[in-house]
Amino acid sequence: MSTETTTLTVELGERSYPIVIGGGLLDSAAEHLRAVGVPDKSPLMIVTDDNVAPLYLEKLESELTNGGYRVVSAVVPAGEATKSLTVYNDLITQAIEAGLDRSSAILALGGGVVGDLAGYVAGTYMRGIRFIQVPTTILAHDSSVGGKVAVNHPLAKNMIGVFHQPELVLYDVDTLSTLPPREVRAGLSEMVKHGLIWDRAFAGWCWDNAPRLLALDPEALIYGLEKGCAIKAQIVSRDERENDLRAILNLGHTLGHAIEAVAGYGRFLHGEAIAVGMAAAALLGEERGGETGLYGETMLMLRALELPVTLPEDMDTEALMSAMQRDKKFREGKMVYIVPTEIGRVEIANDVEADAIRDIIERLKE
Ligand code: NAD
Ligand code: MG
Repeated sequence: MSTETTTLTVELGERSYPIVIGGGLLDSAAEHLRAVGVPDKSPLMIVTDDNVAPLYLEKLESELTNGGYRVVSAVVPAGEATKSLTVYNDLITQAIEAGLDRSSAILALGGGVVGDLAGYVAGTYMRGIRFIQVPTTILAHDSSVGGKVAVNHPLAKNMIGVFHQPELVLYDVDTLSTLPPREVRAGLSEMVKHGLIWDRAFAGWCWDNAPRLLALDPEALIYGLEKGCAIKAQIVSRDERENDLRAILNLGHTLGHAIEAVAGYGRFLHGEAIAVGMAAAALLGEERGGETGLYGETMLMLRALELPVTLPEDMDTEALMSAMQRDKKFREGKMVYIVPTEIGRVEIANDVEADAIRDIIERLKE
């Protein structure tokens, strides 16, 4: 077990909050909750899923109980389908029955699914109560920073939500040791994305340290998650409500979302789909006059993280094109696209022709 701990602050005025990253943090959760002013007179509710519960729930419950808190837990089924109004309603019922009040906190113990769902409960229960993120996936370094919380509508993902910032993110990297390898790689995809949009040195670091990251070396994870969170935090601090700058976080996502939808959910994990999307964006960027080697280096970086950079040959280009159109990013045959200009820098381009994207898709097929 690693012992080093690092803390960074998301600067959002009076809503600023710390992200604590390190090993063994579940064992000192009560102390961290007290440090951010969570009172022990009101009950806390832990929300987790049925993969994470058998691994870490008892540990967190007993640590908080020993630390003087009253705790109730709600275990939801693992998987994206759980981000629904039905499960949301069940959780609200459980919160009322457990007597959660305005001073209570809701803790999300799990990945982005649990974080988004529990965050929406916390953001709306009694018009909003305290929210604590305890991420257990690498991808959750992305979802736990930024304050966007939501559930899905049957017609569209993340359609029902609010902005609700957590009081604390407690990131115990020891929990990552049980993550399935595919989930590890999918999470690293969002990590390297933060380098590709903002910080060349960090992108290079991810590349150099890919074997350590894939092997879940705690020191590498702590550094990578800290940098990833810090970059996202900087962008969110400058544009909390997604007016402009925050759009750059969507690098690889326009095509990525289309790939997820067309392939059928599950064939590509989100992080895998955006890896292909980032390769496509790099190719587009180089063609539009970006730095030489932009595409080649991006591909090598993603490959080092064992992520896909090509499309299956049978994937229907026109199906991808119409999925992107539905993603409302097209305007009059042109689309808003996040395009790299060099490693570590992107532009928000609003003049990308649909035909240019069509061409890139064809070229990415194996
Ligand atoms: P997830 O929460 O579904 O977790 C992935 C899988 O790993 C699940 O089966 C889960 O049960 C399991 N798991 C989690 N932690 C584990 C552990 N330590 N050991 C073993 N298994 C574990 O998915 P995710 O990739 O973490 O998050 C994806 C979700 O995040 C999506 O719903 C997406 O919309 C959302 N998201 C939100 C934001 C945001 O800004 N709010 C940003 C990015 C993604
Ligand atoms: Mg994403």
